[in-house]
Amino acid sequence: MSLKNKLKLKTNLKKKIENESAPKKDTRYLNFYDLKDGEKMKILFVPCAGSGELYRKWKVHGPNLGIRGVGGVRCSDEANQQDCPACQQGYALLNEGKEDGNDYEAYKEEAKKWFSREFTLAQCLVLEAPFEVSESPDNNEVKLIRLPWAIEEKIRESVLEGIVDEDDICLRPFVIKNTMNGKYNTYKNSFFHPKQVDDEVLEAFDDEDLVVEPYDLETIDVIPEETTEAEVEAWLEKAIAKYNQENGTDDDEEEEEKEPPRKKKSIQDRLKDKKSSDDDDDEEEDSKDEEEEEKEEPSRSAGASSLRERLQKARK
Ligand SMILES: [Zn+2]
Repeated sequence: MSLKNKLKLKTNLKKKIENESAPKKDTRYLNFYDLKDGEKMKILFVPCAGSGELYRKWKVHGPNLGIRGVGGVRCSDEANQQDCPACQQGYALLNEGKEDGNDYEAYKEEAKKWFSREFTLAQCLVLEAPFEVSESPDNNEVKLIRLPWAIEEKIRESVLEGIVDEDDICLRPFVIKNTMNGKYNTYKNSFFHPKQVDDEVLEAFDDEDLVVEPYDLETIDVIPEETTEAEVEAWLEKAIAKYNQENGTDDDEEEEEKEPPRKKKSIQDRLKDKKSSDDDDDEEEDSKDEEEEEKEEPSRSAGASSLRERLQKARK
């Protein structure tokens, strides 16, 4: 395809900008994070409409990187049991770290950034709240809740220690309590209420005027699409480039120090070459060889090698 064709937009930019500039908050989610220090909210977990499970989990690469403009990608190993290049990037860094014993911790930190973050989605009914909870467009009383780690841990602990029987876990109100730690919300003091919910509270939800429709968490649109190995690979290439740029390990800056520049030729050089290629065939041959060598380098080691360069620099 010619460059001229490539420069044509295929999408409706105006529509895209309009959508982006008016991001709508998804009001299907429970706004429990609005609880102030010491405030509580009483909820009842609701099983998934399809599977009957309490929650649904998935994994996304990207959130741990902590840089903007990269976005996230679903882990292809978790979603499709296909090799996941982003997971491999993390493992490659860990292995590098083992070889280079001195900086193992630094490699471990770096690896963590490439590993996925797990998300857990559940749903609930709100029994008591100190404020109006966000209302879904269809007025569904069932709210989605992305479980913070502390609440998930509390559920796990309560089930394992027999504090709550798994058969009536959805009949035991759960109290979400926010205890501020500095400027951060924490939910570690949340707990299952010792008594089952009263029948009359449940009956109140049977009102004909109320919408009480549990979501099917297997098919709900808030979970990122499943990915293939190739899709993660494509994401990873972009993410590594962006990451190196943000961290000053862009190859451009290393130019003076590093002899064999691993970067591709700049466009200016290419244009220069193009002009002179007619009268200088030998040089053309050379550069082809170089390029073939470059291709043999697996792209996923790029992150590891930039880290190595950064560590070497720091030691100097
Ligand atoms: Zn993965």
